[in-house]
Amino acid sequence: MAFEGLSGKLNQVFKKLKSHGKLTESDVKEAMREVRMALLEADVSYKVVKDFVKKVSERAVGEEVLSSLTPAQQVIKIVNEELCNLMGNENARIQFPSKPPCVIMMCGLQGSGKTTHSAKLAKMLKKEGHYPLLVACDIYRPAAINQLQVVGERAGVKVFEMGQIDPRIIAKEALRFAKDHGNDVVILDTAGRLHIDTELMDELKDLKELTNPNEIMLVVDAMTGQDAVNVAKAFDDALGIDSVLMSKLDSDTRGGAALSVLAVTGKPIKYVGMGEKLDEFEQFHPQRMASRILGMGDMLTLIEKAENTISQKDAEKMAKKLEENRFDMDDLLEQLRQIQKMGSLKSIIGMLPGVGSKLKDADIDDRQFVRIEAMITSMTKAERAKPSIINPSRKRRIAAGSGTKVEDVNRLLKQFDQMQKMMKQLGGKAGKGGKMNRRAMKRLANMNPE
Ligand code: GDP
Repeated sequence: MAFEGLSGKLNQVFKKLKSHGKLTESDVKEAMREVRMALLEADVSYKVVKDFVKKVSERAVGEEVLSSLTPAQQVIKIVNEELCNLMGNENARIQFPSKPPCVIMMCGLQGSGKTTHSAKLAKMLKKEGHYPLLVACDIYRPAAINQLQVVGERAGVKVFEMGQIDPRIIAKEALRFAKDHGNDVVILDTAGRLHIDTELMDELKDLKELTNPNEIMLVVDAMTGQDAVNVAKAFDDALGIDSVLMSKLDSDTRGGAALSVLAVTGKPIKYVGMGEKLDEFEQFHPQRMASRILGMGDMLTLIEKAENTISQKDAEKMAKKLEENRFDMDDLLEQLRQIQKMGSLKSIIGMLPGVGSKLKDADIDDRQFVRIEAMITSMTKAERAKPSIINPSRKRRIAAGSGTKVEDVNRLLKQFDQMQKMMKQLGGKAGKGGKMNRRAMKRLANMNPE
C-alpha cells in the first residue's frame, strides 16, 4: 500500500512531539526537519516539500500552538490541514453537461493503466445510474481493442470498436452511435506510447478538437514516482488536461506523486486505482487520503466500500440471523466472500483508525481466506449448520478434504465459537437488530482517535 513508509515516519515524529508536553520553537523546528525528510523519502517533489514545510512551520511556531495545552495535537491538526490543501481541499468531480453525452478522453502512456481504468470508470458511472459507452481508439497496441472488449464485458458496458482504422473516424462514429443509442457518457480509450512524442500528441489534439471532450483525464502510474508528475506536466502543457487518475496506488509505491500532482500541474486527482480488479477503484478524497497518511484511518471509504459490496437486503438478512442466533458456517463463508470483494485484507485493515502505520511489516495473508473457505466447503450441510457435531473423526475428514491440518480445523471451530458468543453479547447490547445507522457511523468515522 502506498504511503506506508510516510505514514510510519510521520507517526514517529508526532509520537516524539507528544512526549514533550509543552513545545518550544526548537522542538517544532526539529520536528519539521523530520517531516521534510519523510516527505522527500516518500518521493514528494522537492519544491512541494519546501513550500509545505514552510507553511506548516509558520503556523506551528505561532503563539496559538506553543501556548496550547495540547501542542502536539495542534501540530498534527496543521499538518492534516496542509496535506488536504496540498491535494485539493475538495473532492473534485466530473462535471456532466446539461446536454449529453459527456465525453471523457482517457490519455496516458502505455502501461499506465488506461484501458483498465476506462473500464473501472465506466463500471462506477454505470453504478451511479449513467449509461456509458467505451470506445476503442487505441489502434496501435495489437491487443488493446481485445483487452478493452474483455474488461468492458466484465464491467457490463458496451464497447464500440471499428478495428485498426484512423481513431479520428472511430471517435466520430462512436459519438454518432452514442446519440443513436442514448449513451450519456462516452469514454475514449486513446492510444498510449512508451514516451511522449509529437505524433501521439497530434493525434490526441485532433481527437480533442473533433470530440470537444468535457473531461481530458490523464492516467498516471503511481509506481513511477516523480516521473508520473513530470508526465502530467508534459501532457498538460502539450494537450491541456482537466484531471488526473492515479493508478497502482496499491503497489509498493512511496506515494509521493499523489501529493505533488496538484501543486505542480494545478490539476486535481479525481480517481485512484488500487488494484487490477475493476472494483479496486475509488474517487479521490483529499481529506480521507490525508487521514490515511496520518494513520487516522479512513472509515468513510470503508463504509462506502461495504455499502457498495453488500446489498441492503443481504445486510438485513444477516442482521436478522444474528439477532435470532442462527448465524452458521454457511453465513460465515458468505461474509468472508463479501469481504474479499472489498479488496485485500491488508487494504481493508489499513483503513481502520490507528492501524495504518502499524501494518507496514505485518504479515497479513489473504490465503487464510482460501484455507477457511476450503475447510467450510469440506463440511457437510449438517456440520455447517451445527458445528458442535464435529467430532474428532469428522475433523480428520474435513482436514483431509481441505488440505489442512486438524489444528487448523480446531482453530476455525474455536474462532467460530468465540464469534458466536461475542455476537450474542453485541446483539443484547445494541438492541433490536444491533444495527448502527449511517449517521452514527459517519460521526464515529469523523472522530479523531488522537
Ligand atoms: P494501458 O497500456 O495504459 O492501457 O494499461 P493497462 O490498462 O493495460 O494496464 C497495464 C497493466 O497494469 C496491466 O497488467 C494491469 O492489470 C495493471 N494495472 C492497471 N491498473 C492497476 C492498478 O491500479 N493496480 C495494479 N496493481 N495494477 C494495475
